[in-house]
Amino acid sequence: MQMREFELPDPQPGALLVDITAAGVCGSDVHIWAGKDPRTRLPMILGHEGVGRIRMLNGPKRDLFGEELKVGDKIVWHRGVTCGRCVYCAKRREPSLCLYRKVYGTMYSCDQWPYLTGNYAEVLYVHPQSEIMKLPEDCDDGLIAAATCSGATAAHTIELLDITMGSTVVIIGPGPLGLYTAAYCFERGAAQVFIFGTAADIPRLQLAESFGCIPVNVDEVGPDERRQAVLDATHGLGADYVIECTGVKACAQEAVDLACRGGSVAIPGIAVPVGEMSILPFEQIAVRNLRLQGVWVSDARHMYEAVTLTLSGKYPLQEMITHRFPLSQANEALQAIATRQAIKAIIEPQAK
Ligand SMILES: [Zn+2]
Ligand SMILES: [Zn+2]
Repeated sequence: MQMREFELPDPQPGALLVDITAAGVCGSDVHIWAGKDPRTRLPMILGHEGVGRIRMLNGPKRDLFGEELKVGDKIVWHRGVTCGRCVYCAKRREPSLCLYRKVYGTMYSCDQWPYLTGNYAEVLYVHPQSEIMKLPEDCDDGLIAAATCSGATAAHTIELLDITMGSTVVIIGPGPLGLYTAAYCFERGAAQVFIFGTAADIPRLQLAESFGCIPVNVDEVGPDERRQAVLDATHGLGADYVIECTGVKACAQEAVDLACRGGSVAIPGIAVPVGEMSILPFEQIAVRNLRLQGVWVSDARHMYEAVTLTLSGKYPLQEMITHRFPLSQANEALQAIATRQAIKAIIEPQAK
């Protein structure tokens, strides 16, 4: 990545220009950076997670709750730009599957108007159809930026699985997606939440433990041993829900083995192609009534749920934010996520 200057575009009616105060550095950004995301269109401005202050707006504009927005307001917007009219938006009510969905910092090229289409920038062009929430002045912008992606995807996962009270859940991967998923499992009344991570994940596992999770270091506890631990905690049955939050194929495979009969496996962590996975349709799926659930991104309601949970302060989610960088150090910020030094890194473009 390198710094480039652009002329500010004039917002269309209903569009905004926003001064980005915080941009979240996501695992997906590392995939895009490495050329592994098939949606990437170069040249581009990275960054799909953002919070900012309104710099300019064209015409009257209201947030999700009908509150009139004005210059200087601190806001967050939904990262997916959807059409509202296609079969997935209007009939199935699953805008995350919109036929025309685009994402800031992921699917736009900065070669085309309005150019300022990613959050690793001082200014973002927010499209007229983007759903917006006005934020309180005293919130941590970086934490809210993180909520809009991993938090919202976790909320979508919980909604699709419909986690029930008293259930046992295994979460594989204690990154921001896994941590938000754990928080929601407790909100839904799960009785036991195991969370698996590696030795490099110890700080993440400790944070999960502070939420009430049962941490499992997979570098110390082998596959048979950890499966046994789940069986021992569930009358020999297995977990009701297993949620793969790493994006590693082998973990999705392990997830299938950890679920009870009639259980569910979700794979929100898989966000780029990972090749084939072997599953025994009879032994592993059919006779176990197993549900295998994909989770593609999230909708505006999931952003609302994630922002609301974050603002509630019920979980120490702010401890996920371990690194903050100025815009000039965007490459270093990506490196901190790629090497897993940071749980969550934030770029603060207005910081000098
Ligand atoms: Zn993200
Ligand atoms: Zn649509």
